[in-house]
Amino acid sequence: VKSRTTIDVSKLQRIRFSNTKIIARCPACAELGRDRKGNNLAIFPNGAFHCQAFPGDREHNLRIVSISGAQQRHLHSDWERNYWSRKAEKAKRAEREANELIKAVENQRSRIVADYRWNPQEIREDSPQPMRGGVEYDPRHFIASSFSASDLIWTGNVFQSGIAHADRWRRVSDWRTEEPNRVGPMISPAVWLPGTCSRSQDRVRHKPYTVLDFDGIDGARPQTQEDLRQHVLASLAIVRWLRISLQWDLHAIIWTGNKSIHAWFKTPPLEVLRSLKSTANAFGIDAGLLGHPEHPCRLPGHPHPKTGKLSRIIWLQKSNITINL
Ligand SMILES: [Zn+2]
Repeated sequence: VKSRTTIDVSKLQRIRFSNTKIIARCPACAELGRDRKGNNLAIFPNGAFHCQAFPGDREHNLRIVSISGAQQRHLHSDWERNYWSRKAEKAKRAEREANELIKAVENQRSRIVADYRWNPQEIREDSPQPMRGGVEYDPRHFIASSFSASDLIWTGNVFQSGIAHADRWRRVSDWRTEEPNRVGPMISPAVWLPGTCSRSQDRVRHKPYTVLDFDGIDGARPQTQEDLRQHVLASLAIVRWLRISLQWDLHAIIWTGNKSIHAWFKTPPLEVLRSLKSTANAFGIDAGLLGHPEHPCRLPGHPHPKTGKLSRIIWLQKSNITINL
C-alpha cells in the first residue's frame, strides 16, 4: 500500500524530474548510509511516494514521513507546482503530435517499417535486463519486474474469474514464491482493488501498462512462414518507432509463442490512447486490449496452445515501480 502523505520536496536531496515522477535520494535510506546515487525515492503527482529499496515497508515509509513529510496535504513549493503544470502542457502537446504521427503511419507505414527496423538479435542486445539463463521464461521474474511487491495481481486461465477462483488474485510477493508453472498462463496488466475475485473493469485499481497486441496488419492475419516473419519485423519496427518518435515508455516485449508479439508500454495519456484506438488497425494492433486492463494477455514461460512453443520475454526494462497516476 502506497503512503499518501505529501512529501516536502524541498527537504530532499538529489532531486530530479522524470516523465511521470520526481526522483530523489530516500531520506530513510540516506540515514542508513544507503542510496548514495539518489535513485530510491519516487514521488507521484497525487502525493503518493515509494521507496524502491523498501517497497511497501510500513516502518520505512513512516521514517520517510517523519524526516521529510509536509505539514499539510497540499504543501507544494512553487517550482513543484510549475513542474506538474508543465507536465499537463507536455501531455497536450504529445496528444497533438500523436495525432499527426498516427496520420503519418497510415500514409508511410512501409517507410517506418524500413527506417525503424529492429531485428530480434538487436533487441536482445538492447534489453536493459539481460534475457538469458532462463529469466526470459520465468513468469515470476516478469511480474516482480513489472509491479510493486504489495500490488494485487491476477494470473490464470481466461475462465478463472469469480468467487471459486479467488486464489488467482495474489500479491506480487506471493506469486514470487509459487511454482512457475502455476503462475499464469495469462495475466492482466492491471493492479486490482483489495478483495477482488472478479476480473471486471470496475475492480481495477491502477492500469500502469497498456499492452499492444500486434495481431495482423489491417486485420489480415499472416498465412505463410514468410508472411509471419515480415509481420513480426513490422510489429517490432512500429514498437521502436513508438518509442523513439512518440517517446512512449517501453516496459517489455513478449513473444507469444505463436503469431504475434505483445508490447507492454507505460500507459500514455488518455487522449493519446483514444487516438491510437481509432487507428489501431493501421498499426497492426488488435484494438480489443486498448483501454481494457482487465483483459488477459500471455505471460512468459507457457506453451502456446496452437504451436506448443514457449512464450518468452525478448526485451525487459529494469524498473519495478508502479506508476501511480
Ligand atoms: Zn528508502
